[in-house]
Amino acid sequence: MAGLIKDEDIQLVRERVRIDEVVEQYVTLRNAGGGSRKGLCPFHDEKTPSFNVNPSRGTYHCFGCGEGGDTIKFLQQVEGLSFVESVERLAGKYGVQLRYEEGAQRGPRRDPGQRQRLLESHRLAGEFYAEVLQSAPEAKVGRQFVTDRGFDQSAAETFGMGFAPRGGEALVGHLRGKGFTDDELVAGGLARRSQRGLNDVFQGRLLWPIREMTSEIIGFGARRMFDDDFMQGKYVNTSETPIYKKSQVLYGIDLARRQISGSSQAVVVEGYTDVMAAHQAGVRTAVATCGTAFGEGHARVLRRILLDHDAFRGEIIFTFDGDEAGQRAAMKAFEGDQQFVAQTYVAVEPRGMDPCDLRLADGDAAVRELIASRVPLYRFVLDNTLARYDLDRGDQRIDAVREAVGLTRAIRDKSKVEEFLREVSTKVGVDVDQVREEHRRHKPAPTRSRQTPPRSDAAPAAEQQRPAEPFVSFGAPQFADEREALKVLAQFPHLARQHLADVHDNDFTHPVGRQIWTAMTELGVPGASDSTWVPRLSDALPSDDLRRVLSLAANEPLNATEGGTAAVVASVIARLQLLTIGRRIAELKSKLQRTNPVDEPEAYNRQFGELIALEQQHRTLRDRAIGA
Ligand code: ZN
Repeated sequence: MAGLIKDEDIQLVRERVRIDEVVEQYVTLRNAGGGSRKGLCPFHDEKTPSFNVNPSRGTYHCFGCGEGGDTIKFLQQVEGLSFVESVERLAGKYGVQLRYEEGAQRGPRRDPGQRQRLLESHRLAGEFYAEVLQSAPEAKVGRQFVTDRGFDQSAAETFGMGFAPRGGEALVGHLRGKGFTDDELVAGGLARRSQRGLNDVFQGRLLWPIREMTSEIIGFGARRMFDDDFMQGKYVNTSETPIYKKSQVLYGIDLARRQISGSSQAVVVEGYTDVMAAHQAGVRTAVATCGTAFGEGHARVLRRILLDHDAFRGEIIFTFDGDEAGQRAAMKAFEGDQQFVAQTYVAVEPRGMDPCDLRLADGDAAVRELIASRVPLYRFVLDNTLARYDLDRGDQRIDAVREAVGLTRAIRDKSKVEEFLREVSTKVGVDVDQVREEHRRHKPAPTRSRQTPPRSDAAPAAEQQRPAEPFVSFGAPQFADEREALKVLAQFPHLARQHLADVHDNDFTHPVGRQIWTAMTELGVPGASDSTWVPRLSDALPSDDLRRVLSLAANEPLNATEGGTAAVVASVIARLQLLTIGRRIAELKSKLQRTNPVDEPEAYNRQFGELIALEQQHRTLRDRAIGA
């Protein structure tokens, strides 16, 4: 089967290799008892490990998908190699000198498979570009960029940064000289065909080599340096090739892999310079997607590395911008795989700085602190949702609860829902029973598919569901005290006047009542009986609707008359203020519930003091309202 390589050398390779060592380049393994080890299968998508490796036998087997074999087979499968290529790779790693069968014409110099050729061309391209960045005069602008972003020479070397010459044929010439064919250069995404022949894909750009976990270069990320660049994007990456799959590629994974596995934490940032800045700052678990949103393919790669001890309990931390796009990205992640979401955190820089800018502004420690300040993703999404509401207003609190409760649709793990509802209760400042009730009422309509994602881009529920205020009639029962107050003000202004010092505009919550009250204060409530009061007021009102309400208030008898008019007027005004005080007490209690006395002792104590004062005021007014 081996054909070219002598059987005894293949046997030697089999004896020398450590299968767990090879597998661990791709999959994190934990001890599974009996000397065997297990991890998440690299050949099928799974969440609990069924991929077993037996180091003493030198074999692997997946109980999930049935794949299995020895180390040579593993490398063939995971890297897409031929048998001979796999043996050659292992022989190189374990120091076995291979001998080839007599008559095997192509011997050790024969052409390896396409994949190996493409990797080799990228390795050489990486060296070529790095050399240009270090020494070529035309790369000065690139070296300046590196310096301006806060990186020194050794950082640029660690990450293998390079520079593509502007000429357009330098790399093609270099690699042709190394024996690569035009087809190979095009297939690997290093060159493209034009009318003038073969040209370098990247020209006049600063480059970051993109590597696999095994450190092999599979593509490049390229940043625009010159205004006359024929490529549009500020950043351009290698397009999809046989070795470059953007849905799985994570920039920095070669450097971060070991740290991610060891610390059970991965940090996902947005750009090449952010990965560099994070690593330089000591956050060596940082990776970035390359020109594409973080998706399932990337999650699978990280999951395989993160597997740790008895269960998957790693953390994935995203540094989203606090801005719109970042929030959308967070919402998108929130709607994804829930097991994944459960370990997903968000680190948001309040000023919207990315890690690279942050490091430039505030130094390495600030980057580490940003990562340490992570919050669970679901809490980030909840906070962003609640931030759209004024939680000091009762009606807004109701709307906020309604929308927050809607987020539970994205939580597939039902045991997490109750925890979430409690958090909503604390954050909004309403009783948890009220939140549970809203949740019961909020059960998705039966016609709606369970898979339907929440409308993250639709207008907030508040805007759709809150009725426009003028359409709630002033005749509704909850405005009875406001209507009664208007009556005493229209009919007995001179008696009401002495109680008006503590009456404020917001005591009238309905716009109709408030507009009439405003007109009254603008005219000045008369201190003595005044027959021109109502006519003058009527003239001052802006609409016939308001005049009709005033006319009613001026003519309808008061609801109560016992105890004399003066006492009734005092009682009516007190009841109007009682409502306001009651609302303020409810708001303050709600705010207190949202204030952590340990974190914010001053705010808590101040609010508590206000609450005591308001309750005292409430008792006084209530006594007056009942005529005591
Ligand atoms: Zn499997």
